[in-house]
Amino acid sequence: MWLKGATPKDVQPHRGRLVFASKGKHMRLLVIEDEPRISEMTKAALERAEFVVDAVHLRGDAREALANTSYDAAILDLGLPDGDGLSLLVELRRDGNQVPVLILTARDAVEQRVLGLDAGADDYLVKPFAMSELIARTKALLRRPGGALGTTLQAGNTVFDTIGRDVSIAGVPLQLPRRETAILEHLLRRQGRVVPKSVLEDKLYGIDKELESNAVPVHVHHLRRRLQEGRASVEIHTVRGVGYLLVETKG
Ligand code: CA
Repeated sequence: MWLKGATPKDVQPHRGRLVFASKGKHMRLLVIEDEPRISEMTKAALERAEFVVDAVHLRGDAREALANTSYDAAILDLGLPDGDGLSLLVELRRDGNQVPVLILTARDAVEQRVLGLDAGADDYLVKPFAMSELIARTKALLRRPGGALGTTLQAGNTVFDTIGRDVSIAGVPLQLPRRETAILEHLLRRQGRVVPKSVLEDKLYGIDKELESNAVPVHVHHLRRRLQEGRASVEIHTVRGVGYLLVETKG
């Protein structure tokens, strides 16, 4: 399933000009909520908090979005017009999708809340809720181990602090452009596993909507060079036609 969207292109030599985006974090969230007012307010509030937000109203659209895009977290309303949010969650977890999920439940539905957590939700919020709380809870979710914020990621001598977004190699700071930082972060999170090129493209879209078709190979090329120059004990391998893999080198 994770091969979906992979293209047979391989690394191309560096040619393009590079313009580095200057603002915004690039966590990408999916809001699954059918009530237009809540959806709009939620999206706007999260965007003000510098998240990149996609909003869908139907369970079917959510399923498609989650299959095609790598989200850092999802906010899931349980009552959707074309089905139950809970069964979507069950389906996701069954397919091995571990995206952190915060469910939105009606005020008195204690049972629904418990079912949601049992089904693999990471947190819940009771409607009506304050936007400030939604943002705080979402950030907390991203900070958990395995979440997208607030942990130190390490492979060999290469350490990435996800709070400061600083990279160091054997304790020496390594300056990286934002997009290379995003790629390194994602490869570190999935170290030892192949990350499809399409997933890395998604990460870059969060930073810059205008992406050249060879952006990922170009950034990986630079990142590799910088890691090598900094004597990192990690390597990024190209898996032809699929994506990239970060591994620790021996010795
Ligand atoms: Ca609803």
